[in-house]
Formats: sequence, C-alpha cells, structure tokens
Amino acid sequence: MISFLDLKKINEPYKKVFQEKMNAVLDNGWYILGKEVKTFEASFAAYCGAKHCIGVGNGLDALTLIFKSYIQLGKLQKGDEVIVPANTYIASILAILQADLVPVLVEPKLETYNLNPDLIQEKITPKTKAILVVHLYGQLAEMDAINEIAYVSNLLVVEDAAQSHGAISNQPSVIGNQRSSVAYSFYPGKNLGALGDGGAITTNDSELAKILFSLRNYGSETKYYNDFVGVNSRLDELQAAFLNVKLPNLDAENELRRNIAKRYLTEIKNEKIILPFWDFSENHVFHLFVIRTEKRDDLQAYLLENDIQAMIHYPVPPHKQKAFLQWNNLSFPITEKIHNEVLSLPISPILTDVEVSFIIEIINKY
Ligand SMILES: *Cc1c(COP(=O)(O)O)cnc(C)c1O
Repeated sequence: MISFLDLKKINEPYKKVFQEKMNAVLDNGWYILGKEVKTFEASFAAYCGAKHCIGVGNGLDALTLIFKSYIQLGKLQKGDEVIVPANTYIASILAILQADLVPVLVEPKLETYNLNPDLIQEKITPKTKAILVVHLYGQLAEMDAINEIAYVSNLLVVEDAAQSHGAISNQPSVIGNQRSSVAYSFYPGKNLGALGDGGAITTNDSELAKILFSLRNYGSETKYYNDFVGVNSRLDELQAAFLNVKLPNLDAENELRRNIAKRYLTEIKNEKIILPFWDFSENHVFHLFVIRTEKRDDLQAYLLENDIQAMIHYPVPPHKQKAFLQWNNLSFPITEKIHNEVLSLPISPILTDVEVSFIIEIINKY
C-alpha cells in the first residue's frame, strides 16, 4: 500500500539527531521560550528574508494573533471586513472570526485553486480593511495583482503560508513590500512539520513584531507585568529543537516534491483527469498535488483497490459547513465545483521513483 503521507518514514532520517536534541533539552532544564525557540526564530526569519519571526503554538494562532495585533495597533477594528478565499481550509476563516472581524468570501480561480484577483474589487466595501491571502496547496497566489489592489484600496495584506513554506516568488512585487505579515503552521503533515503543534509569524514590521512577542505570552514583556490581554500560544521548546534540525533540509525536500510533480504533470495522460496548473518555477512547493475529475469518489476508490491512498482536500467548503449555518445557502459555484472534484495524489520527499511510476501507470489505466 502506498500511503498518502507516511509521517514516521518522513521523520525516520532525523531520528538519531532528534533523540540527541531531546536529551539536550531535557538536560538543559529550560522548557519554555528557551534557546531552541530563539535559534529557530532567528533561522526562520533569515530563511524567509524577514526581519522578525515570532514562534507561536500553531498556525491558527499565528493568523489570529496577527489580526489581534493589528487591532492593538489601531490598524484594524472589530467588525472590519477581511477578504478571504472561499475554498480555503477552515482555519483561515476561524482566525478572522476569533479576532472579531468579518470574513468576506471570494471565489478562487479554477485553474490555480488560488484567490482570483479579478473578483476582489467587487467585494470591497468601506468596511474592508484587509485581504487574507492563502497560498493553497503550496502555490503562491497572484501577489502582484493582489498587492496592487491592496495598495489602491489601502488594505492590509496577511498571508496564510501554512501550506507554502519555502515557496519563492520569481517576480519582485509591483508595489514594493506590502508583505506585512505571514503565518506558518508546523503541524506534522506540513512541508516543514514538527512532531506536534507549532506555528510562526514572519514580518518586517517591528512595531507589529513587538506586540506579537507580547500577545503570545500573556500580553507580557516583563514577567508578571501585562500590557495587553494576551494568550498563551508559545512555540514549544522541544518542537523548536526538532524544527531546527529539519529547516536546513526544507529546500531539498521541496525540490523532491517538485520533481514528483513534474513527473505527474508530464507522464499522467488520461482524458478524465485535469492536472493542476504550475509554471514550473519555485513558486510552488507542492504541499499537495491536487487533480480534478468528474467522478472523484470513483477514482479514489479505484486507486485504493490498487493500493494507492488518495485524499480529498477538502470535501466540504467552509460556507457549507454546519458550523456556518448562516452561509449554507450562499452560492460559490467554483468553490463548490472544486470541493466536488478534487483529489490529492501522494506526494512527499520519501515517495520513491518506483512508487511514482506505479501511481502514474495505474492512473493512466483508469
Ligand atoms: C494547516 C493549516 C492551518 C492551520 O494550522 P494549524 O497549525 O493546524 O493550526 C491554517 N491554514 C491553512 C491553509 C492550513 O493548511
């Protein structure tokens, strides 16, 4: 059986170093916000080319705390509207809600699964104050177009990069550096995954960073003195230690994912299957390889009969979830089509050439 994602095997090469790191942290005796977190924050900021990195408890908190910090800075106010792709993972929308802001759903492009810049303008109202861009499945959204809209309408741009660690834009932004704040998740299945929960924010905005460092730790800079109504959402010392081991390999692992994607894109030949758009640049780190087909469930069952585990990301769009009854009768045809037709093929740094060949052969026979 080719499993969709074998986390044990992905972490196997790091086992010995992880065990040494675990002992080092244990012997050090400093378990919260210690030197591993500090080291990771410095390394990840440098890796992303950002001035600051703030380690937090998970990706959802990374997003939520960005919005809460902008509220503290007076750049956002409760009730402000935030543009967000309608087909995103639920966390993006929950973060907006947790900061008492209002999500405004916008359709993606069918070809890229990412926010359609042409559909943003018509959703902008006097209450719109930010765009939450999601680089879904690992592919960067059309940032030049989005940054331009944000610049013209004076909107903040927040990026959900939980699926796109290491994706590189091949074009300098038209409007200069609007990349105010980016949220990452280190959930075990992500391209840079810990052995538990973890997250981070990168930003060039020093004022924002200062508030974030405080908010994640009870709103306190000096112990027992609280400047803000904060939360407890710190990147765990042990998880930071594991991430410090894995970060140097992230680019190589992303390249392995891209190589598999190249094979899928050139060798899968089946009229029933629509392959994902990619311009073959480093703007995609293939967190997921997502195809579309009309009889998706049928294809998934066929693959399983052939010992290939494929998954659906995601079966139900946010506006059709029970949690959002108030949106259930809204219509987002492209989003709904995506959720009805997508299927994710196995893709990960440990998938072998033989396994990739087998998957291609089985799909071509379908
Ligand atoms: C995984 C994910 C998150 C949330 O990350 P957690 O660490 O699980 O909280 C947010 N947005 C997207 C797009 C994700 O894929």
